[in-house]
Amino acid sequence: MRKTFLPFSVPLIGQEEIAEVVDTLQSEWITTGPKVKRFEQEFAAFVGAPDAVAVSSCTAALHLSLLALDIAPGDAVITTPLTFCSGVHVLEHVGARLILVDVEPDTLNLDAEAVQRSLDRGNLGGLHPKAIMPVDLYGHPCELEALFEIAREHELAVIEDAAHALPARYRGAMIGSHSSLQDLTMLTSFSFYATKNLTTAEGGMLVGRPDILQRARLWALHGMSRDAWKRYGSEGSWFYEVVCPGYKYNMTDLQAAIGLHQLRKLTDLHGRRQKIAQQYNKAFAGFDELHIPAEREHVQHAWHVYALQLNLERLNISRNEFISKLRLRNIGASVHFIPIHLHQYYRKKYGYKPEDFPVALREYQRLVSLPLSPKMNDEDVHDVIHAVTSMVREHRASRFLAASRGQSVSAP
Ligand SMILES: *Cc1c(COP(=O)(O)O)cnc(C)c1O
Repeated sequence: MRKTFLPFSVPLIGQEEIAEVVDTLQSEWITTGPKVKRFEQEFAAFVGAPDAVAVSSCTAALHLSLLALDIAPGDAVITTPLTFCSGVHVLEHVGARLILVDVEPDTLNLDAEAVQRSLDRGNLGGLHPKAIMPVDLYGHPCELEALFEIAREHELAVIEDAAHALPARYRGAMIGSHSSLQDLTMLTSFSFYATKNLTTAEGGMLVGRPDILQRARLWALHGMSRDAWKRYGSEGSWFYEVVCPGYKYNMTDLQAAIGLHQLRKLTDLHGRRQKIAQQYNKAFAGFDELHIPAEREHVQHAWHVYALQLNLERLNISRNEFISKLRLRNIGASVHFIPIHLHQYYRKKYGYKPEDFPVALREYQRLVSLPLSPKMNDEDVHDVIHAVTSMVREHRASRFLAASRGQSVSAP
């Protein structure tokens, strides 16, 4: 057994990031400044987005998306139950109603056909959605083409939560680049939280067309408009006008200093994630007790999370026991995510029942996210594989155990 605990995820910070942070500290410019500007430009170029705003978190980026698109009380937004809570909290922050639609059984992403059916039937409780908020869960892009078609037909904005999807591709195009589509209103948000594929400790990026991002920039920094400088130029640079009660969502140069170097390493870091995911897939594919994550042919998976699905009817332990026992073997694991409709606040406010979203509920009960980070070495990967496969062998359900030994199931 492994001697030391293997955490679920650890950041990989190198000397380059450390040196750049020190350089920033010595520069006398530590908050939003030249490094943030450079990070925005380099990030936009990397994902092929027309423009980018660096912010304090992905949650802030999602909130700004709603504000920039004027989503307000009385509006409704369609999203998935299998996401992180902050992705829907922002709807509450602007007073919009949440419309949950169930997920696809394989990718666990928002099911475009189910969205289409809900819109066709008009069974949205009298609500008129203004936007659709897909999440590229685990780093596997959503079926964007199908979602775009729905968005065009029903005049919905698309607010993509790409917290996991860096770097990812859908039909060859980088996630982040679709925000340049002229026949759609679209924004994409990324997260640089400590566990994410690119980290700035805390941070996020909102990408989209400059005309929309201009509004997001206002909301991100106190609603202070510098356009006033131009109009009142002769009065000096101290003058600004406040055009909305904005928030304080700016990124600092200290964070951007880390991000600039993480971005340069991202392709290599992603390559390591891909390799680990392939090793897991190869090791687990032969087990009837396990179901490996979906990976459609026309996508590049960012492999932020490796979410294994347990075939519970073939095992004599629950998912929770599985995770506890992995911990006893010094392997950290997690669950992504507790579905939104099971959380107390949303249950009470919207009156959800667990069975309202049967796919999300069923999958939630059998999901296990295994350790996955570019900091893991081959021995770490081997230890995870060994722990999982030996536990599966130990916990085969007896009726399947007999069958797998090549005996008759009815034999004593
Ligand atoms: C991490 C995460 C967020 C929030 O990102 P922060 O940068 O921590 O605000 C939003 N959505 C999903 C799916 C996430 O995993």
